[in-house]
Amino acid sequence: MPQDAFSNRVSSLTNASRKFLSDIGAWSRVDESRVARIEEMQVWDGVSDASITFNANEAGISMKDGHAAYMTTMTENLNLQRALIRTLDSTSGVNIIDNTKVSSIVKDTENGGWPIVHTSSGGTFRARLLVGADGPNSPVRKFAGIESYGWAYDTRAIVATLYHAPRVEGLQNPNTTAYQRFLPTGPIAFLPLSSTASSFVWSTKPAIAAALTNVDGQILAHMINAAFRLPEVSLRHLYRVIMEEQENLTPEMILEEIRWRERSHSIDQYSAYSSYATEALGVPADDADLVPPVVKSVQEGTVASFPLRLSHADSYIGEDERGARTALLGDAAHTTHPLAGQGLNMGLGDAQALADAINDAVLVGGDIGSRTALLPYTRSRYFENHKLLSVVDKLHKLYGSTLPPVVWARSVGLEVVNELDVLKAAIMISAGSNLGSLKERVGRQGVSPWSVAATGVEIAGGLVDAVNLVGRTFQGTVSAGLRSVAESMERR
Ligand SMILES: Cc1cc2nc3c(=O)[nH]c(=O)nc-3n(C[C@H](O)[C@H](O)[C@H](O)COP(=O)(O)OP(=O)(O)OC[C@H]3O[C@@H](n4cnc5c(N)ncnc54)[C@H](O)[C@@H]3O)c2cc1C
Repeated sequence: MPQDAFSNRVSSLTNASRKFLSDIGAWSRVDESRVARIEEMQVWDGVSDASITFNANEAGISMKDGHAAYMTTMTENLNLQRALIRTLDSTSGVNIIDNTKVSSIVKDTENGGWPIVHTSSGGTFRARLLVGADGPNSPVRKFAGIESYGWAYDTRAIVATLYHAPRVEGLQNPNTTAYQRFLPTGPIAFLPLSSTASSFVWSTKPAIAAALTNVDGQILAHMINAAFRLPEVSLRHLYRVIMEEQENLTPEMILEEIRWRERSHSIDQYSAYSSYATEALGVPADDADLVPPVVKSVQEGTVASFPLRLSHADSYIGEDERGARTALLGDAAHTTHPLAGQGLNMGLGDAQALADAINDAVLVGGDIGSRTALLPYTRSRYFENHKLLSVVDKLHKLYGSTLPPVVWARSVGLEVVNELDVLKAAIMISAGSNLGSLKERVGRQGVSPWSVAATGVEIAGGLVDAVNLVGRTFQGTVSAGLRSVAESMERR
């Protein structure tokens, strides 16, 4: 791709994932000119505007590779895939067979029950260990007869590459802040790629997603700006406009509608929340860093949308006669909502743990396909992944509500967490679990901005049930309870 164009499939990598990629020699093959480091993230509630800011310095993260402290790294999946293929290609003993489909997998019933893989190019492979890294519809999972539970979110994620003006040097932070606004229809995230290009992921109801992917790119750009700025009531109206008037709608019409809405909400024309910010020259508005830069256009051919679902395989390793000598990882084992940017990171964590298990088995002369060899893999990953899947799922549900007690509880939680630097740092490091050795936890779990937010908000989420049960009179107790939790964490 030309230097100013980006693929629409990008991922945020935790520092732990990046370290793993460095350790296996893949990161040095990534094109660094197409990598963006995220130093800060802003997350806010689209209904109450309660917000939380996370900054890499607060977590005590200091990287040694000549860059300012950063929380996560954005890169195109293609950039990473190319680096991984080059790494494999230069590793002795690895044979890459590409442009080939696995057409069937059968069990070698006569010789020990090993899996036999047949490919569309006529190849046949008898596997001591068959690893299914073959995505959500995993043929390996089906072969092994491993069930997977979960549900479809009534949501699609729209992605595209966006162009905008650079941040003003010396007066603003560079484009190193990621933004996520939780709307009742789903979150919208802005993810920097370069000084003038960023990616976005907008998870929303299928009907709205269909309209947004069908409209002219300029209309989509206006809608993205509005989604980060306008109150929910106006967004609901704009969704209706694009769904009902798709055929005749022009960018000028939607912009006029947005401007009318801004006036009715008394949004100052000189504020970064105004669509007139696109035309602003000179000194940026005081609140310019609170919202993403105004999107000017959408890169042609990059708008796409994906269905979202939660799924988790019952097991990561095949059991008994049928699935012996199989292991699952990545989306073959679990899929999650992208709001926490964790799918690929979880898969990389799986790969690392599986490699460790295989290595340990080889060192003691064990059989790498045996249940004994694979158990440490599933033990180290299953519960970790389960926790993350469940936090993300709760977060999705929590923010889908506009019920006042729910909005109140999540907003109080978010604001309280935002005020307590020590608690925030702890959340960033430990992603919500017990504080152990900070260093050890960074190494093991890493920090993803969205999972950090997910965990911070989960604290608020825990309040929702209680609030629903006992009503508003409980508010003071809840706040006091939260404060004491925070204080006890500060003491530790
Ligand atoms: C909008 C969106 C944004 C996301 N953002 C992030 C993010 O910021 N950070 C993050 O960590 N994750 C993110 N994710 C999740 C991430 O993209 C996935 O978790 C990740 O791509 C899964 O990788 P995988 O290799 O396990 O599966 P896949 O990417 O599905 O790869 C499976 C591979 O197996 C191949 N395959 C399947 N069947 C066969 C067969 N029969 N023969 C041969 N080959 C076969 C497929 O062709 C495919 O290449 C996002 C997801 C979405 C939808």
